[in-house]
Amino acid sequence: MPFFEQSAAEHLRNLETGEVSSVDLTRSYLDRIAALDARVGAFLRVDSEGALRQAAEVDAKRAQRRPVGPLGGLPVAVKDILCERGQPTTCASRILENFRPPYDATVISRLRAADAVLIGRTNLDEFAMGGSTESSAFQVTRNPWDLERTPGGSSGGSAAAVAAGFAPLAIGTDTGGSIRQPAGLCGVVGMKPTYGRVSRYGVVAYASSLDQVGPFGQSVEDVAMLLEAIAGHDPRDATSLNEPVPAYTKEVGLPLANLRVGWVREHFGQGLDADVEAAVRAALGVYESLGATLHEISLPHAKYAVATYYVIAPSEASSNLARYDGVHFGHRTNEKEMLAELAADRKQLETACDRQGLDRLDSALVRMYRRSRSEGFGPEVKRRIMLGTYALSAGYYDAYYLKALKVRRLIRQDFDRAFGQVDLIAGPITPAPAIKIGELAGDPLAMYLLDIYTVSANLAGLPGLCLPCGRSAAGLPIGLQLLAPPLAEARLLRGARMYEQATTWNTTHPEL
Ligand code: GLN
Repeated sequence: MPFFEQSAAEHLRNLETGEVSSVDLTRSYLDRIAALDARVGAFLRVDSEGALRQAAEVDAKRAQRRPVGPLGGLPVAVKDILCERGQPTTCASRILENFRPPYDATVISRLRAADAVLIGRTNLDEFAMGGSTESSAFQVTRNPWDLERTPGGSSGGSAAAVAAGFAPLAIGTDTGGSIRQPAGLCGVVGMKPTYGRVSRYGVVAYASSLDQVGPFGQSVEDVAMLLEAIAGHDPRDATSLNEPVPAYTKEVGLPLANLRVGWVREHFGQGLDADVEAAVRAALGVYESLGATLHEISLPHAKYAVATYYVIAPSEASSNLARYDGVHFGHRTNEKEMLAELAADRKQLETACDRQGLDRLDSALVRMYRRSRSEGFGPEVKRRIMLGTYALSAGYYDAYYLKALKVRRLIRQDFDRAFGQVDLIAGPITPAPAIKIGELAGDPLAMYLLDIYTVSANLAGLPGLCLPCGRSAAGLPIGLQLLAPPLAEARLLRGARMYEQATTWNTTHPEL
């Protein structure tokens, strides 16, 4: 089996027995990235030198029989939205093109402490706003299964990197599906932990009541390993849960007895692609054959999830993104040009004797903000800022934002009720397999509707996992989403592993 098809767990065994060194393993991945990433575009930057240095340090620790961390020498790709000290952290936005954070995100510190090798930074939708990685200001990422298609998003670079065999493990963030959805569309495993399970200190905020960091891997076991390394309380994140971290790597191998799997009536309605529906129904059949019982459940407010999410997420985004004004953070417009523009505008108004116009003329400061933000943000981010600002404005707040918070509560209550009857909920991750690049350009609403199956878990704060469960007639990956109650990550991983062991979907890989 070629090295890039081996799981992280297999690599780790080989590293521990000395069959392979971290330097050799890292170099193999770096060579593969150098040869093939021009076709995929998963990485915004690859840190060859830094990665080989970290790998050599881990090898030296092993040689000297010093303790080695749980990810001892495994390359990990990181979404370019987690701050890494001294390294550009762009969020795929022009406005942060030159930002170099002076500190590490807690997840980055934990990866370092676990002896991971940080191999490079992956592409995303600008500020994680999107579901196709097309809104990146810098490059398009292609789906390794079909280079004409998107990898999904917003963590499309991380999902594509794992699917293409550029890294055995990757980190993403999930605000409304951005780990689970690209995992499903790229045929890998991705997990959004419970809100608060993983620290968000040093993660550039999109929508703070929804954002969560999580792992990607080729197998459920690999995802368990990465989650165990990054999860846990962090006093520097006020939303971080102060709960012990179970030994996910040990738990993951234990099948669940008397498992009750729920399937949601509202998930199998109009708009669901026939191949996706067939694959998901077949997956439910696999659970039954493993001794689980299937239960039809209802989430009556699920139909409001997209509308609720697209009020709450842009509202929080408009507030979080206010800091990028060219003064506190971010790109600043060319001030000479700006002042010349202002002088020219004034002159024109004076010549026209336009008193009112002159009174309305904005100050140099306001003009600097406006130009900096206009130049720095792309169209999707601007759309979200406008939507959010509108929803939060006086006179509309009660009708939109406050109403959305109330519906959010109802969505959460639907899940509480459902988890009184079942242990896990299983269903589709997207209505259809990966879209073509450009297919929905200019139709943001159609793009938002693709989030129908993913956003509820974020609104309710639940953990969710997506793993491969089939291929469409055209050979594209289809994902199965599993949801569990808050902090039941171990149950989620065990349930996913049961399915994975009974099937072979994660043993085939795209050919590049
Ligand atoms: N597609 C959703 C959005 O555009 C989810 C993005 C995410 O989870 N970061 O907001």
